[in-house]
Amino acid sequence: VITQASEDLKLESYVIGGFVRDHILQRGEPKDIDIVAVGSGIELARKVATILPHKPKVQVFKNYGTAMLRAYDMEIEFVGARKESYQKDSRKPVVEDGSLVDDQNRRDFTINALALGLNEDNFGNLLDPFDGIEDLNSKIIRTPLDPDITYSDDPLRMLRAIRFATQLNFKIEKESLKAITRNKKRIKIISNERITDELHKIMLAEKPSKGFSLLHKTGLLHIIIPELTALEGIDEIEGQKHKDNFWHTLEVVDNISENTDDLWLRWAALLHDIGKAPTKKFHKKIGWTFHGHEFVGAKMVFKLFKRLRLPLNEKMKYVQKLVLMSSRPIAIVDNDVTDSAVRRLIFDAGEDIEDLMTLCEADITTKNPKRYKQYHN
Ligand code: ATP
Repeated sequence: VITQASEDLKLESYVIGGFVRDHILQRGEPKDIDIVAVGSGIELARKVATILPHKPKVQVFKNYGTAMLRAYDMEIEFVGARKESYQKDSRKPVVEDGSLVDDQNRRDFTINALALGLNEDNFGNLLDPFDGIEDLNSKIIRTPLDPDITYSDDPLRMLRAIRFATQLNFKIEKESLKAITRNKKRIKIISNERITDELHKIMLAEKPSKGFSLLHKTGLLHIIIPELTALEGIDEIEGQKHKDNFWHTLEVVDNISENTDDLWLRWAALLHDIGKAPTKKFHKKIGWTFHGHEFVGAKMVFKLFKRLRLPLNEKMKYVQKLVLMSSRPIAIVDNDVTDSAVRRLIFDAGEDIEDLMTLCEADITTKNPKRYKQYHN
């Protein structure tokens, strides 16, 4: 249909970006398709809609010069090929009409710049100016242009690089990783909503720990969620050490993720120990303690949700509840809860109790497998 519409309008069109990438990787059913027209994307969308039997409604986003319609259970987005240039304090580029190559140049990664011809004379031909296919084969995230420019122009791309590396289990090319580290502070011009969108996607990947350790390695995590990086490190006093609560947390997150796709349970796993940094104390007789960290942690969850523009609704309360209880796994497994506030919360958890148990069990498993076995039996 798009071929016919393009021929009717005598313009070139291409399918580009995620659809081509995922098609080559044979990665699930596509949810959206991006079409680039060398000419007016809006006009092409309107033409396509007249040819499609169900005559879909075309949604036009005039400010962006794009249009979208739904067909075959997919969102098909149309845009005119464009050339972009950036100013220092904004991720909104100055846009002018351009060629396909100009449009490929503005893409974030080589694997997202792949295009397939849709006209009669080039139907299905792959246009790959940056060796994106090679990067797909060797599982590499690389930018088409100088990575310092790519990331500085639009710092959201730093999170996208880490997100794609996590979702696809790819490596971020060395120079790119260094450029992200150098440009990390530019993340401050990105809205918190955009940041959390990417964090959610990392969180929903098979192994979220990969994304969080990359965020940590590049210094981005320290800017976005300093509550987590504060957990890193092992202190030793009088020969007594505590565990590294940052790396322990990532272990718990992966553990939970093996058992559930529930986004909020995964968030709870990520945040379950955040109260430990501000409550850490050393006592001569008992060693390291984190007394009250559950309550401090639950309060921190509220502040963090507010800052990151995560919803302050029952989902947040659920995460708070899990954080409040996460350090009482043995008490819960043992059904011997002495703390009345915690006991009340367990009753409140109601049908969520199964999720709660999963979280707790994962925590005990990584913390002390022997003890876990003993209590579980
Ligand atoms: P997914 O749908 O899994 O998020 P996707 O690649 O389709 O993957 P989108 O965010 O829908 O991701 O973007 C579509 C395409 O637009 C990308 O493949 C890429 O070519 C381009 N793109 C998106 N965001 C950016 C950006 N910030 N900078 C440069 N190019 C981008």
